[in-house]
Amino acid sequence: MASVQMDLEEDVAEVLLTQEQIATRVAELGAQISQDYAGKDLMLICILKGANIFLADLVRQITIPVAYDFVAVSSYGADTKSSGVVRILKDLDESVESKHVLVVEDIVDTGLTLRLSYLLENLRSRRAASVKVCTLLDKPVRRRVDVPVDYFGFKVEDQFVVGYGLDYQGKYRSLPYIGVLKPEIYGGG
Ligand code: 5GP
Ligand code: MG
Ligand code: MG
Repeated sequence: MASVQMDLEEDVAEVLLTQEQIATRVAELGAQISQDYAGKDLMLICILKGANIFLADLVRQITIPVAYDFVAVSSYGADTKSSGVVRILKDLDESVESKHVLVVEDIVDTGLTLRLSYLLENLRSRRAASVKVCTLLDKPVRRRVDVPVDYFGFKVEDQFVVGYGLDYQGKYRSLPYIGVLKPEIYGGG
């Protein structure tokens, strides 16, 4: 494997989900979504940046016609909850009116950033025919704010994971699997 990837791998303490496990599950999700949305005008909306790799694999496992678009939404800390300030940094290029929208997210954790709830509300106000959520990872034990998860790839424990699109300080997104970093990496910054 390329040397950059080897550098990243040195920081990994444990692989939680292998490339094969992820591929198998993404294929199952693709099949389920294809069945559930058959005959409907389906549009996937990928939340940048973390869900990008999941989206790319997922659309290739969907066997019905599917369109997709990208949004970037500001994700502040927990105090967003009180201020209610969430901003769209990159909006959709196309209208979602009367389309069946499936929002593709990398991980739903506490729900406190309100990023996802804001986006769902926003999409409904744009008159999407339906709005649902598909997340690769779900950390239900951490949930503080009710966020509807219609499809999930895997449930994970209360630990910070990286890889397959998920970053720590901008790094590790390109790892092909999902893992946990060595404790000294999280400490060091
Ligand atoms: P929350 O659901 O807590 O409002 O925020 C979820 C966001 O926090 C995710 O979209 C992701 O950016 C980040 N996040 C939460 N848990 C993890 C994790 O285990 N690993 C990584 N890389 N990001 C996480
Ligand atoms: Mg995310
Ligand atoms: Mg991140």
